[in-house]
Amino acid sequence: MMTTLKPVVIAGAGPTGLMCALALRAQDIPVVLLEAEEALTHDLRAGSFHPPTLEMMAPYGITERMHESGIKVRHWQIRNRPGDLVAEFDLDLLRDVTPYPYRLHLEQHRLTPIQLDLLRQEGGAEIHFGHSVKGFTRHADGVTVTTGGPSGDRRFEASWLIGADGGRSVVRKGLGVEFEGFTWPELFVVASTPYDFGAHGFAYNCYIADPVEFGALFKVPDAGPPGLWRLAYPVNPHEADEVLLSEERVEAALQRVLPKHGAYDIRYKSTYRVHQRVAASFRSGRVLLAGDAAHLNNPLGGFGLNSGIHDAVNLCEKLGRHWRGEGEHLLDLYSRQRRFATIEQVQAMSIRNKRMMEERDPAVQRRHLEEMVAVATDPDKARAHLLNTSMILGLKRASEVI
Ligand SMILES: Cc1cc2nc3c(=O)[nH]c(=O)nc-3n(C[C@H](O)[C@H](O)[C@H](O)COP(=O)(O)OP(=O)(O)OC[C@H]3O[C@@H](n4cnc5c(N)ncnc54)[C@H](O)[C@@H]3O)c2cc1C
Repeated sequence: MMTTLKPVVIAGAGPTGLMCALALRAQDIPVVLLEAEEALTHDLRAGSFHPPTLEMMAPYGITERMHESGIKVRHWQIRNRPGDLVAEFDLDLLRDVTPYPYRLHLEQHRLTPIQLDLLRQEGGAEIHFGHSVKGFTRHADGVTVTTGGPSGDRRFEASWLIGADGGRSVVRKGLGVEFEGFTWPELFVVASTPYDFGAHGFAYNCYIADPVEFGALFKVPDAGPPGLWRLAYPVNPHEADEVLLSEERVEAALQRVLPKHGAYDIRYKSTYRVHQRVAASFRSGRVLLAGDAAHLNNPLGGFGLNSGIHDAVNLCEKLGRHWRGEGEHLLDLYSRQRRFATIEQVQAMSIRNKRMMEERDPAVQRRHLEEMVAVATDPDKARAHLLNTSMILGLKRASEVI
């Protein structure tokens, strides 16, 4: 039994930090959640949830609430630049291994209010918005966390500190843990429109292969019908945002996906930089890293947010067992298992997906796409591919890491 009653302090109320808070409160562990912003963040980011993530969130009531407005996406497609369908995958092939044989599309900023609401209903968590973690000091039996914000500087005593404070994590930087990997040279633009690509045969989740401008197109529910179609595509990082995000450029990119008369109604546009990085360890003494604070990947495959939730569930199950008296080695096991899943699956698959979509050599790209057709049209191969791309296989292999 742990001798201290100091809470677990979590830095960051993004999807990962909120999931940690819920998973710890469900085990009656005291939690303090510190968020730098004055409210939950609202930018257009992740929006695609794989079956295992839905399974993990179900016991907390999150998955059921997500289904109230989320879109079930049974099929996903690979297309080429002329706009032709190359291969289509049917997630229903996984119906014997998961109660959720589909991807559920729901914007990240619609997930976090559900998590926060359930956390408040559960009770017992101290939640502080406008508290930015500035640093921490480690002691033998805990961590002192310092924050700044509109209400001034404060100190919080923690038994454990979880850094779920995103890609620029102050907690990770404070540990001095290496963030190994690289940054892609190009920038990405994300733009959204209510125009119905579905009426032209596009599945709600499509990857568009093209040596010059590959893309990922998927539909999110927005505030309700007709929803929004979100396109992400690479752009020249040496051009200014004003140019990259001009009406003319974004319009042209949408027209290259589907030429149509009249302009697209563009509702949202932004640029972002993409990295492939993994922290050298997800644990250093009483400080733990989870979600984007621990790893970053490109968006092809929709793995980033999903793996943050996987980290949170794995970590809090082990932290709970330690809290109830089992050895600290469990926290090292968390780091080993989640680093394995991140490196073996998320990094490898997202890099492979991107390289396949952007392949410059037409002959090599044709061969890749022919392989995808062969996989999609053979039910056994398609099922194996879906087990992998839905993160089921990677999680199973990671759970075998000792
Ligand atoms: C354009 C885009 C598209 C994406 N699409 C997908 C997708 O389809 N599928 C997918 O799985 N992933 C996707 N991702 C990745 C996904 O959005 C992230 O993996 C996810 O946000 C990680 O959640 P997180 O809680 O770990 O970090 P974040 O969402 O970054 O949350 C971190 C939180 O910590 C807070 N914070 C930061 N610093 C401090 C501090 N010092 N003190 C206190 N609080 C702090 C922040 O304000 C924030 O609320 C996408 C990302 C982008 C940018």
